[in-house]
Amino acid sequence: MSRKKNTSSDIGLLEVVKYGHPALRSKGRRIDRIDDSIVTLAEEMLQTMYEEEGVGLAAQQIGRSIQLAVIDVMVAVKDRPSRAWLDGREIELDSLMPLVMINPEIHPVGTDREIGTEGCLSIPGLLDEVDRPARVRIVCQELSGETLDFEAEGLLARAAQHEYDHLHGILFIDHLPAESLREHQPLLRKLQAKSSDF
Ligand code: ZN
Repeated sequence: MSRKKNTSSDIGLLEVVKYGHPALRSKGRRIDRIDDSIVTLAEEMLQTMYEEEGVGLAAQQIGRSIQLAVIDVMVAVKDRPSRAWLDGREIELDSLMPLVMINPEIHPVGTDREIGTEGCLSIPGLLDEVDRPARVRIVCQELSGETLDFEAEGLLARAAQHEYDHLHGILFIDHLPAESLREHQPLLRKLQAKSSDF
């Protein structure tokens, strides 16, 4: 983790590591105590995500192996809707955003699946279609330590699954068929070569 620059506030922007960096393949440690350093890190991750125009960012992407990810489906992407339910009642999305997920668990709800386009701040230049469960139940801790238990569909469900994967060392390209992956090899090799310069 390194600081690129400081903004006018004292929240720093973090460097997003790219494909080939070993942190992206590491499984995150559970967070037992949500102290000030975790709160600051979550704020810095959100600022970094907004700056890079991402929908989500996991700790692995800033070189940390802990169970912490941030999501905001309201800012960078306007044309891909999401829905969310709390205790069986649909809720306004902005009441959940930005979402900080600590130690998240994700369970598919029902058997419907959906194919949608994904990209990743750690794999710039690569977009592809990924098949995932359409609706999921997400159970995580918030920064306050409270447990949040809700269901999601649409972009939020997709982003949560993408970030959950990161926290377990899995990348969205791992879900692609071998043929697509072969097509992406030149770009992946280029990113990997750059990452090994460090
Ligand atoms: Zn990603």
